[in-house]
Order: sequence, then C-alpha cells, then structure tokens
Amino acid sequence: MISSSHLLEDPNLDQIPELLAQQRSFFASQQTKSLQFRKAQLERLHQKIVEREQEILAALHSDLRKHEFEAYSTELGFVLVELKKAIQQLPKWMKAQKVGTPLFLFNAGSEIRSEPYGLSLIIGPWNYPFQLLFAPLIGALAAGNTAILKPSELAPATSAISAEIIREAFPPHYVACLEGGVSVAQALLKERFDYIFFTGGTKVGKIIYQAAAQHLTPVTLELGGKSPCLVDRDTDLKATAKRIVWGKFTNAGQTCIAPDYVLVDKAVKEPLIAEMKRQIKKAYGDNPQQSDSLARIINAAHFNRLIAYLKDGEIAAGGDYEENERYLSPTLMTEVDLDSPLMQEEIFGPILPIISYDSLPAAIEFINQRPKPLALYVFSKNDKHVERVLAETSAGGACVNDTLLHIVNPNLPFGGVGDSGIGAYHGESSFQLFSHQKSVLKRSFLIDDPVRYAPYKLGIKWLKKLMDWTL
Ligand code: NAD
Repeated sequence: MISSSHLLEDPNLDQIPELLAQQRSFFASQQTKSLQFRKAQLERLHQKIVEREQEILAALHSDLRKHEFEAYSTELGFVLVELKKAIQQLPKWMKAQKVGTPLFLFNAGSEIRSEPYGLSLIIGPWNYPFQLLFAPLIGALAAGNTAILKPSELAPATSAISAEIIREAFPPHYVACLEGGVSVAQALLKERFDYIFFTGGTKVGKIIYQAAAQHLTPVTLELGGKSPCLVDRDTDLKATAKRIVWGKFTNAGQTCIAPDYVLVDKAVKEPLIAEMKRQIKKAYGDNPQQSDSLARIINAAHFNRLIAYLKDGEIAAGGDYEENERYLSPTLMTEVDLDSPLMQEEIFGPILPIISYDSLPAAIEFINQRPKPLALYVFSKNDKHVERVLAETSAGGACVNDTLLHIVNPNLPFGGVGDSGIGAYHGESSFQLFSHQKSVLKRSFLIDDPVRYAPYKLGIKWLKKLMDWTL
C-alpha cells in the first residue's frame, strides 16, 4: 500500500502507476457502486468541508484576496448546494430509466442504466480553485467512480487545504489529491483513466484531449474564450450597467464566463459608459484599491499580461495599477484595436472593451466570425431581438438581461461548445456526465419466434411490412 501522506504531500511521480492500480482494484471490488456507499461518501465530504469553512475562506483570500461573501457564494456555498442536491436526488438519479420496446421485439423489456466509468481524473484551474475541483468531484463520486484530483499550483493555499480535506475524508485508493504543477498533470496523463474532466484554457485543453485520445478516454473539457455581452438600444441602461459591472469585476474579471467585451448599439454607447462608471464607483468607491470587495490578479505573469492590454485602445475609466499588490482597477476601454491581443485573446482580468455596432445583424456577424464562446449575454427589452440573437449565434450557455447567473441554476447543464469546450455538468448533469449510459434489453424464454433464424424462409416484402407496423 502507498502511504497516502507521502504521496499526497510530495507527489512521487514514480508512484502514480501504483496509486492507479490501487484505485482500479478498489473499483473492481464493487464497493463504490451501492447507493449507501455513494451517499455516505458525499455526506462525509459535506461534513469535512463545513468543518474547514474558515480555512477554505482564508485560503481563497490568500490566493486571490477574495472577499468572504464572494468566496462563499461562488465557491464554498456553491459546492455545498451541489452536494446537498446530489445527496437528496441520488436515489432518483441512480434508478434505471425504462424505455419502450417496439412490438417486433415482443417479450422484451428495455432500460438505460447509469454505470460508473471507473477511475476519473479531475484537473482544476486557479481562478475558482475550490469550486472547480470539488464540483466535478461530486459528480464523479455520485456516479460511483474513484477519483484523482490535480488542483492548480497557481492557487497554492487552496490547493493545500483541498488536499487536506481529501486526505481526511477518503483513503487514496478511493480519492486522492496530487498537488503540483504541469509535471504532475503530465505524469497522470500518461496513465489510462476511464474519464478525464479538465477545467482550464483552450491551449492546455488540446493537450489533454490528445493525451486522452491515446487511451480513447472520454473527456469533459471546460474551457474559456471571449464571451460577448450584447447591449441593445432598447434596454434598462441602469440595470444593464450594474449587472455587467458585477459580472465583469467579480473575482477581478478572472471568471471563465465573465463578459469579455461589450457590443453596444451605437445609440446608447455613451450613456452606457457613463452609467457603468457610476456603477463601478458605487461598487468599489472612489479608490478601488481601498475596496475589500475587489480581488487581486493571481500572479505577476498574468498581471503583466493584463497591463500590456492597456495600450490596445483608449482608457475610458480606470486603468490604474500597483504592481506590488497585483492590483488593477476596474477598467473600461474604447476605440480598441480588433487585431490586438486585447481583442484576440481571452482577457481574464478587470478590463472591459466596449465596441459599438450599427445594426443587430452586424453585431451577430461580429460574434459569429469568432470562436464559439463559453457564455453569451444579451440585454434587451425587445423579445424579438433577444430571440434573434439566441437563434443566430452559438455559445456554451446564455443569460438574458443579466450576467453569470445561468451557471448558478443546477438544473441548467454548464459547459462550452466548439473552442469553449466539450461536455456539461452541474446537478443531475454531473451525475450523467460521469456515468456511462448502458442500454439493456432483457428477453424472456417464453416464446421464440423462428422467423429471424437461418435458413431464412420469408422474403423482405413481409419483413418491411412487419417493421413498419410494429415500430
Ligand atoms: P490552464 O489551462 O493553464 O491550467 C489548468 C490546469 O492544467 C492546471 O491544473 C495546470 O497545472 C494544468 N496544466 C497546465 N499546463 C499543462 C500541460 N501542458 N499539460 C497538462 N496539464 C497542464 O488554465 P488556468 O490558467 O488555470 O485557468 C484559466 C483558464 O481556464 C481560462 O482560459 C478560463 O476561461 C478557463 N476556465 C474555464 C472554466 C469553465 O468552467 N469552463 C472555469 C474556469 C476557468
């Protein structure tokens, strides 16, 4: 047996194959599959997270200077709600789903069973380092899998507390957390997993997909991209500005579904900017550096990347920064160069370019000329305009007249499309994602119709009629 403390605190990459062998043997023992076992593990995880609430909030503050209200609502509380839902709904989710059987298959019953894949690997990013590690884990365990977690090395405090929680809650042959950077992820990816769940950037997503292909392992890729926010001339400007400012500057813009840029009808561009400036001031005060509600940029490399964007257009608000603190004020930019890095890369920080459009079809074309985004926002009181935007564009998810909130409803699957990802989770979708849907047809021995067996005696004319009538 591998000593979990040694492996988890200082991952010895040579021991990874042995850890997988232990998880495979535990999975083969069938213990992870019963409702009782799954429920008990989710309850245990719930209890361990609640016990460590203060340490988790402190870790998120240390990594990103997240205000505890934001840290609770977007990370800890989010995970606890997902856990409660899974614990409550698991008996229903696990039930085989009966489906109809055509008449020509008489004497048979059909059902779809959700079965666990086996060993799952979950690789997390740094921006919501707790939520994006534990929310997929809930799906993996609810579905009866074992799991290995690889938190992001760029949020070290959250990585450490996550590993401690896992170590306390579970033996490593069931769930293990391997801290570390790219080398740990690469060593894990050499192994054969039965499911890989990755959250991160599109570039690394492609590496994960290639590694998974070597073993034909199914994957979920939760990626990012540039999520547009379209503002129609017929809107409530005050509420629109307030909701965009909230969605953009939460976690200092380091949110995969943050509005990346605003596309606004030219008739309301100036009043929208004026209202957004007012809302920024209301939320973060005259000097946002003093506000405890504004998070900081995760590290120097990302800070420098963001500062470089400030030259790709005109600064309409903000643009102040302080390198020592990795502080960047909520910033609005206009007259942006569409070919510059600011408009070619995912911004992932508190900078919001504002671009005006002449007509709705032109705005839709602008969106469709770019890779499919993770989220699309549209603000309008005109239902026809909203419907047109939703129907004529593609995005992982969409939210009308608000930002970010579609991710909060556990009844809505969350995921990307095209460049923004593959697969979707949350609530029951997480359970389904980590389950293989096995089709089962059960036949009785009562009657054995001789017609189908060789040597064939009937012509296909008869067969065509039978298949037509008995569908
Ligand atoms: P990232 O892709 O750099 O890293 C994510 C994880 O992959 C980390 O654990 C890292 O250690 C690992 N990794 C990095 N390079 C690797 C390599 N070469 N091989 C194997 N593993 C490697 O992403 P990030 O910077 O941590 O997160 C930011 C990105 O994640 C943004 O693009 C954002 O939009 C996206 N994101 C998406 C979602 C979503 O739910 N769709 C949520 C949050 C963040």
